[in-house]
Amino acid sequence: MGNNKYKLLVIEDESNILSFVRTILEANNYQVIVAKNCAEGKLMYSSHIPDLVILDLGLPDMDGLEFITYAREFSTVPIIVLSARTQESDKVSALDLGANDYITKPFGTEELLARVRATLRNNRYSAESGALAGGKYVLHDLVIDYDKRMVMIANNNVKLTQTEYNIVAYLSAHAGKVLTYASIIRTIWGSSDSGSIKKLQVNMANIRKKLGSKPGENKYIINELGVGYRMCDENE
Ligand code: CA
Repeated sequence: MGNNKYKLLVIEDESNILSFVRTILEANNYQVIVAKNCAEGKLMYSSHIPDLVILDLGLPDMDGLEFITYAREFSTVPIIVLSARTQESDKVSALDLGANDYITKPFGTEELLARVRATLRNNRYSAESGALAGGKYVLHDLVIDYDKRMVMIANNNVKLTQTEYNIVAYLSAHAGKVLTYASIIRTIWGSSDSGSIKKLQVNMANIRKKLGSKPGENKYIINELGVGYRMCDENE
């Protein structure tokens, strides 16, 4: 019974949020186990080995970031962080420590389910390493041909610089996941200096223009303000 269900661990101290999340997930055929503080979360994690963890950052006994550090010592389990709107720096810390994604409170049913699905899917991609090397990435009318290093929209070649292409390819290889500014800069330029963020923003502005996105429109790439960028997922 339920052996083929994904097992999700939810670590959250606020009862109303915990029961909201639990109800939604169980209604959508996930198995849910819960913990109300960080210590209990670690215990539940090691005894149940869940497929995904949903983690509140503000826990009564310890900072939720400590759970990420703990889990990443021995596990690649996907972790989605729950955080308040005002805590941009916490989201960045969580992602840089190895969290896979975050959801900003307050959130709705659809957003929660979309992030859970995308994170489980993303983790499958990286488990089948190389599945995205070579081949193509398709998102609506956008096609990225990794072998030819070409980006096309509605069959028209989009002329990107090498750097712009590298950024788009990196984002698409992690579609659905927020990549922090620091992680993009490290991957594209290898190191960072005081001008790196500006350099990234200029490249992103050019990319968005070339992809035909109007200001404020998020057709392919979403700017997660203060955190990083996310390539839209095909199922979003
Ligand atoms: Ca809390």
